[in-house]
Amino acid sequence: MDITKQPFGQTDAMKWLDLYKLTNLNGMEVRLTNYGATLVAVTVADRNGNLEDVILGYDSLADYINGSNYFGCIAGRYANRIAGGRFKLNEVPYHLAQNDGGNHLHGGVQGFGKAVWQARELENDDSLGLELTYLSQDGEEGYPGNLSVTVIYTLTNRNELRIDYSATTDKQTMVNLTNHAYFNLAGSGDIFDHELMINADRFTPVDSSLIPTGELRSVKDTPLDFTQPMAIGARIDQDNEQLLIAKGYDHNWVLNKDADGPCLAARAFERNSGRTLEVYTTQPGIQFYSGNFMENGIAGKAGQVYHHRGGFCLETQHFPDSPNQPNFPSTILDPGAIYEHTTIYRFSTAGGPPV
Ligand code: BGC
Repeated sequence: MDITKQPFGQTDAMKWLDLYKLTNLNGMEVRLTNYGATLVAVTVADRNGNLEDVILGYDSLADYINGSNYFGCIAGRYANRIAGGRFKLNEVPYHLAQNDGGNHLHGGVQGFGKAVWQARELENDDSLGLELTYLSQDGEEGYPGNLSVTVIYTLTNRNELRIDYSATTDKQTMVNLTNHAYFNLAGSGDIFDHELMINADRFTPVDSSLIPTGELRSVKDTPLDFTQPMAIGARIDQDNEQLLIAKGYDHNWVLNKDADGPCLAARAFERNSGRTLEVYTTQPGIQFYSGNFMENGIAGKAGQVYHHRGGFCLETQHFPDSPNQPNFPSTILDPGAIYEHTTIYRFSTAGGPPV
């Protein structure tokens, strides 16, 4: 196993950023930068041993700085949407940036995905890791409390990429952290033939601005039912109110939980390569986003152009707009308490050759 570091570039504020490469004994590679605690590449074998990068991103730091797709970054302080950019804590109103129509999205204009994090390399017997820390100041993007955040990415020899999140605050605040990687297990092209299973009987339907209505609705008899594996493209353009609002899949599923630790949340399978991705998490929800807003072709890594629905996100998280939804699990973090969550992306290959 091996971990290397090279310069990735410089921000306008003259801060130097690095690109780290973690390689496990199977040749699986993970590239990370401390800009936005971002996952830059995940290179895994197909069923014939051919290595390919299965996440979307850019070649240069400048593109990460200017990009607006949240490729591979850590979204926070509050990942996903908060209605009107407003919430109250103990009757005190807080106002956040309205950077998505009238709503707040992924922590605001300078969310955690645009922050410079401190990095520390970690080497264990059977794994390699990168610890990233960030101090989000009291008042940053309108949130109360100095929030000290740690994200540890670990690559194991079982082809798992594990992400451990933790945070503490000195004032009551809201926290919801996720990784925003876009996957394409074929390495290029669209995602329609990926077969997806989501371990959830319910989802949180949204209004016309993608804010949950508060209802936990059954997926049964809807195109949002992924309890059995289904091709992403099979029903994506159906005449369904929820799909029309989001221009495809862009919803939070309420995960079925059968244990306290990380539970299986989703499995994606790409038949041509045989690549399989399993997602395990301690979080109560997962946002499956099918790249609906990638309408204009994005210049990505190694000369690739990413087209509409050229990647999908499986963002493990608390439910969107929880700060304003009394019936959703709470996203309040108190001083003295520790926010802790874990998500594991496990890669393998399965299935016979394509027919
Ligand atoms: C959201 C989408 C949004 C995208 C931005 C996703 O997490 O659910 O609505 O457009 O992030 O890249």
